[in-house]
Amino acid sequence: MRLKKWLFVLLAGLMLFALCACGEEKEGQNPYASASLEGMKIIVDPGHGDTDVGTIGVSTGRYEKEVNLEIGLKLREALEKEGVTVIMTRESDEPVAAAEETDIAKRKEADMQKREQIIRDANADMYIGVHQNSFESADAYGPQIFYYTDSAEGKKLAESIQTVMNEELEIETPRKVNFGRYRLLAPGGQPSVTVECGFFTNPAEEEKLQQGEYQDKVVAAIVDGIKYYKSNK
Ligand SMILES: [Zn+2]
Repeated sequence: MRLKKWLFVLLAGLMLFALCACGEEKEGQNPYASASLEGMKIIVDPGHGDTDVGTIGVSTGRYEKEVNLEIGLKLREALEKEGVTVIMTRESDEPVAAAEETDIAKRKEADMQKREQIIRDANADMYIGVHQNSFESADAYGPQIFYYTDSAEGKKLAESIQTVMNEELEIETPRKVNFGRYRLLAPGGQPSVTVECGFFTNPAEEEKLQQGEYQDKVVAAIVDGIKYYKSNK
């Protein structure tokens, strides 16, 4: 018995030492990029689409649904490079459901129900909705992440992505995460967030959000935000 106890203490000590040594090795690296996403399954949902155009860009008149799709497809590519299996709710502007339905409201409702079903059926580790924000004042700018009311993991994921986006996109007056009972953040058991990449009501930001280079930075920051969440698990 005694010997077993000593062996246990020795093993525990060795494991602790190994853990500390590992921690030290990570110093000096990008603190947000240390976790591996290999083997994860993530739902990427480019918001709106089809007859639902989303918000409209204040200076260029561009539809939100188009930029959501551009960023969503880039996010898929970046996540796949990390070894993630990505489930897209849509990959084009084609209707997700009810293509024959002429009533806009019914068509939208069918679309939402289909997305809910995709999320439920995916059995995924995470849900990321991609949107562009809007506000009555043109001054509002910067990314903002939303999670479902009272979802502890959703909040943790939202805060991780918010922190990294604020830093990597060099946002001068950063926004804070927010929450609500958003319909697509409810289904499935996975942590879910909506990433509002920036404001379509801010002329400068709206133009920036359409530039390929800025979109790449947005996507890289989302991926690093997910890694930051994973490394704090
Ligand atoms: Zn939207």
